Amino acid sequence: MGAVTGVVILGGGPGGYEAALVAAQLGATVTIVDSDGLGGSAVLTDCVPSKTLIATSDLMTEMRESAELGVRFRGDDADLEPSDAVGVDLARVNERVLDLASAQSSDIARKIEREGVTLLRGKGRLDGSQAVLVDLADGGSERVEADVVLLATGAHPRVMETAQPDGERILTWEQVYDLEHLPERLIVVGSGVTGAEFASAYDALGADVVLVSSRDRVLPGEDADAAEVIEDVFKRRGMTVLSRSRAESVSREGDEVRVRLTDGQEVTGSHCLLAVGSLPNTGDLGLDTAGVDTDERGFIKVDRVSRTSARGVYAAGDCTGVLMLASVAAMQGRIAMWHALGDAVQPLDLKRVSSNVFTSPEIATVGWSQQAVDAGEIDAQAVMLPLAGNPRAKMQGVHDGFVKLFCRPGTGIVVGGVVVGPRASELVHPISLAVAARLTADQMAHAFTVYPSMSGSVAEAARRLHQAPGPA
Ligand SMILES: Cc1cc2nc3c(=O)[nH]c(=O)nc-3n(C[C@H](O)[C@H](O)[C@H](O)COP(=O)(O)OP(=O)(O)OC[C@H]3O[C@@H](n4cnc5c(N)ncnc54)[C@H](O)[C@@H]3O)c2cc1C
Repeated sequence: MGAVTGVVILGGGPGGYEAALVAAQLGATVTIVDSDGLGGSAVLTDCVPSKTLIATSDLMTEMRESAELGVRFRGDDADLEPSDAVGVDLARVNERVLDLASAQSSDIARKIEREGVTLLRGKGRLDGSQAVLVDLADGGSERVEADVVLLATGAHPRVMETAQPDGERILTWEQVYDLEHLPERLIVVGSGVTGAEFASAYDALGADVVLVSSRDRVLPGEDADAAEVIEDVFKRRGMTVLSRSRAESVSREGDEVRVRLTDGQEVTGSHCLLAVGSLPNTGDLGLDTAGVDTDERGFIKVDRVSRTSARGVYAAGDCTGVLMLASVAAMQGRIAMWHALGDAVQPLDLKRVSSNVFTSPEIATVGWSQQAVDAGEIDAQAVMLPLAGNPRAKMQGVHDGFVKLFCRPGTGIVVGGVVVGPRASELVHPISLAVAARLTADQMAHAFTVYPSMSGSVAEAARRLHQAPGPA
């Protein structure tokens, strides 16, 4: 390897562009090859658009539920109940979503350029482990030599053979932002994080939503207590949740979509959103030319410092399937560069990742889970405190949600937590800090919280985990 290391990155999503910034900082010559726009799916079709849509749906939820706080909207004749008075202009919402996504993509492009990273627009593939072939978007091709290659090509929505999206009424989550009008009756197939988030959002925007869930309850991968709260709220708000119902096919007849379930039932609606998982973009990456191994589903196998089976070739983000989050993709990308370029590096620790389900209310999680505690993978004490007893929650008319904390018996070190409530994504941070810094429940309990505040419940949960000193 020469004095300056040449790094080539395939994919300009968070896995790719965050790695590029680290590599540039460490003095490497960096080239990013990207086919669809910097920021990747995270910025252009997934996280950023969905969370921007949810910013509007959250506001709608607050307004609809504001009657309890005494709010009335002035109509022509009589004051209107907020729930009857608010509506949404979906074309305007979607225009804002797409503008914001494209502006963020441009911001990232500028930042990358400022750091001296070369951007090649086009599709790349490996040509052995030390070169990449690029089919340029403007035509022609280029071969770029590399000392280090990072694969960060992301994933795409899985579609079923019997449920082909048409971009008009049968949609993947990438296609919903072209809608000009709110679907009258939206059938969401899949009740994982993506399905639940969109079901929650469109319900709040005013669509009649049917959520088709193949499992006993929605959000099967999440904390069971949290998922129960969300399912209760969904049903209370009028959503139809079809549990233990697997979609067999989705078809369209005129303006109607039909979802046929495996038990023979049929559900009809005006639109259908398919949220049945993601597949890695690894099919045509020339992985075999470099000896990069994948699992049986096509995800690239990596270790905790993002190394693949091929020397000098690293991989990060959704194409590895390690944990499909933008924050994890970014960290895997940075770790890859720290490792490849000889900087100090800590292997990826999934037990410190905090994540959020942006339903209304939200579910935020960090560290060890209830499932792991129940399965005996870790010995931990748990406490769960409903938010309904919190003074701020009462003032704000918040009735659903809780704080749950896990700590080690004996030492009292906090190892995980779950928060369900409005803006749980913000409330989970003190727990995340405690997990990262190995704080004890007592140390958390002794920090001041504002009165009144939702975070008061985090401190109170920590106080309840206090272990009285044993007899002298
Ligand atoms: C609806 C939805 C909402 C989400 N919300 C959140 C959220 O709120 N928070 C969160 O943390 N995560 C969220 N995620 C997950 C998050 O979007 C992904 O984990 C993240 O995008 C992964 O980043 P990445 O860099 O691996 O890939 P991507 O963001 O997919 O970027 C990869 C890029 O590489 C390009 N590419 C592919 N092949 C090639 C090639 N051969 N050559 C050049 N370029 C190529 C792709 O076109 C793409 O632009 C969400 C996912 C979905 C589906």
